[in-house]
Amino acid sequence: MKILVIGGGGREHALVWKLAQSAGVQKIWSAPGNGGIAGEAECVRAEAGDVAGLLELGKKIGPDLTVVGPELPLVNGLVDAFRERKWAVVGPDKKAAQLEGSKIFAKEFLQRHNIPTAELYGAHDSAGAAYGALCAVDWPVVIKADGLCAGKGVFVAPNPDAATEFIERVMEKNELGDGGRRVMLEEALEGEELSFILLMDGERYAALAPTRDHKRVFDNNKGPNTGGMGAYSSDELLPPDLRRSIASVIVEPTVEGLAADGIRYQGFLYIGLMLTKSGPKVLEFNCRLGDPETQAILARGDFDLAEVLADAAAGKLQPEKLKWKAGASACVVLASGGYPGKFETGKEIRGLEEAAKISGVKVLHAGTKRAGDKIVTSGGRVLGVTVTGNSLSAALEKAYEAVGKIQFAGMHYRKDIGKLQQSSAAGD
Ligand code: AMP
Repeated sequence: MKILVIGGGGREHALVWKLAQSAGVQKIWSAPGNGGIAGEAECVRAEAGDVAGLLELGKKIGPDLTVVGPELPLVNGLVDAFRERKWAVVGPDKKAAQLEGSKIFAKEFLQRHNIPTAELYGAHDSAGAAYGALCAVDWPVVIKADGLCAGKGVFVAPNPDAATEFIERVMEKNELGDGGRRVMLEEALEGEELSFILLMDGERYAALAPTRDHKRVFDNNKGPNTGGMGAYSSDELLPPDLRRSIASVIVEPTVEGLAADGIRYQGFLYIGLMLTKSGPKVLEFNCRLGDPETQAILARGDFDLAEVLADAAAGKLQPEKLKWKAGASACVVLASGGYPGKFETGKEIRGLEEAAKISGVKVLHAGTKRAGDKIVTSGGRVLGVTVTGNSLSAALEKAYEAVGKIQFAGMHYRKDIGKLQQSSAAGD
């Protein structure tokens, strides 16, 4: 099987790494890939959001299967264009991808199908209406830009001043672009978060190993939100009664709701949950795998990923094929100095080989590129040090041992991945 992986972050490196272990895989391309992926697949130039360009690429290389990493090509209709040509692809079509592409669409879906979620206070397409609505909400209030905003579109506002400032930045100054043309105000939920991801083939689904990620940049959930500073997976995240409750109140109604709305969902469906005192509630849907959750999930994967993804693309998913290693996994993200604000790139990365020698460790690349025989930084999130272990504490010990071997100028990371017991609504 020849496989094209679209994207070039840590999530895509994890996919390439696991796909390369599948017996039936002959060749992997990654578009555009990165400095680490380049050692395991052929990187080809591409813009992830450019459907026409990716279609040309598909014609040229003729992959047997395409796996789409990021949301932008999905929301832009890449899968529709591929499926029209009967090319096997893992990812939802444009209609289904609205579950991520429009938070208001997702909220209406949740309400229509009685799936527990934060109470909606209102959706507004003008700043004036949104300011006006602030007098009738409880505090803190959650403000969400409707469209894709690269992880910057959600704000938990503690008071009216902070809420007004965010609405002004999003709706009047257009700081988030078109994604901020409409906003939605909703109830702030409290509890622990859980990432629950399904692989769907249009009818059947399989649940991936449960994960939790850490979005704030600094230890103890301090500082601004990032794309994700680390994640971990352990079966303890999902005791049997919680698994049953998520299946019956969230997953089954979601799958039935999709069918009732005429959405044939093929691909990964990420369900972001808040585990509240009154049960699990949906915070958001993403129409793809999470990053860095994927790194922790696939590290625990004990199955032939290429075979399972080809089955899903063909509408023949066999959920029992997805097996998970016992124990736990973790991914610690190493970021550039200044991230998630301004940062410099081009810093040489040292110690990658020493880190990789530690058993159970895989250093997955996100923002890196090759410069001669060196690997240098090229993004905010640079590496994801990914490990498995018999227990979460064993995995974390190895992860931080490996982190200690790696250096680049300005490098920073969280030292408490997997260690937090409690998180607040404004935190992870
Ligand atoms: P989302 O992109 O919708 O997942 O939002 C990003 C993050 O904002 C989530 O992972 C939560 O930490 C937080 N968040 C979103 N919605 C809510 C909510 N209703 N209550 C509390 N926190 C929220």
